[in-house]
Amino acid sequence: MPLSPELYSPDARTRLLVVAPHPDDETIGTGELLQLVRAAGGQVHVLLLTDGDDNPWPQRWIERRLRIGDAERARWGRRRRGEVGDALRRLDVPFDALHAMGWPDMGLTALVREDASMARARLVEQLVDFRPNVVALPALSDRHPDHGSAHVLTRLALADWDAEPPLLLGYLVHGREETQPGVALPAAADRHAAKLAALTAHHSQMALSAGRMRRLTDRPERYDRVARPPADREAGALPWHPMAWRSQLRLTIASPDGVRHWAWTDAPLQRDGQGRWRLAEVPTAPCFARLDMDVSSPWIFDRWGWCEL
Ligand SMILES: [Zn+2]
Repeated sequence: MPLSPELYSPDARTRLLVVAPHPDDETIGTGELLQLVRAAGGQVHVLLLTDGDDNPWPQRWIERRLRIGDAERARWGRRRRGEVGDALRRLDVPFDALHAMGWPDMGLTALVREDASMARARLVEQLVDFRPNVVALPALSDRHPDHGSAHVLTRLALADWDAEPPLLLGYLVHGREETQPGVALPAAADRHAAKLAALTAHHSQMALSAGRMRRLTDRPERYDRVARPPADREAGALPWHPMAWRSQLRLTIASPDGVRHWAWTDAPLQRDGQGRWRLAEVPTAPCFARLDMDVSSPWIFDRWGWCEL
């Protein structure tokens, strides 16, 4: 018999924090969850990490311009942040629930590597301020690098926050959904219709990609219950076995101890008896590893991305 998903029902004590890397993730990932919590009398807080300003093709199309400089990019970010405000109104979320961090779009992985302690401290301020008991965050397995890195930054901030750990619900926008049943929401036609209406507030994204955006928004909202990896998972073992281009591969390790990155050939790794690569010293949990290629490419999605060790 197939396992059915766990049904989530909030109440008036629910304090939901949504972490959205870009404008539109709040609607695609959590549009029904936000309404459900509001209808139950709970509180919501939406943390928008970037303004989605690195989005040149829709901007070229809508603004009929080829060259996009800093001023145009900033203007596009303001436009997209405004679209989030409109979408949230259609989801019955008050305007003052939106908090924008203004971090660089397509830059969250660099932020993890270069300034994670600042980002963690700013996220902890948000946690202390709002005191969530439920956090909806991008799935670690999402293939968009900003999404996986948003997961890592949020988990590191949660590790720094001295409070009862909230329920963590991971939502996937880019990539293949997990086969495990996860957490579902009670179906409601009115909430689904309001979610589709909220999507249309994102005019800048509907111009070139309306079909793809509607398909993503039309899926039933499903979440992974984010938990620590099983205790029998061997600490420090990496899931990758790179055979070639090792000097071009960059390994990043992020944990409460800090963030470090190296070319694969310089990383502190050793092989175990089964031929697996593992870290010579295992950092404090939660510990995340990321592998990527150190060459520029027009393909933005991750091939390997992040995993939790
Ligand atoms: Zn996104």
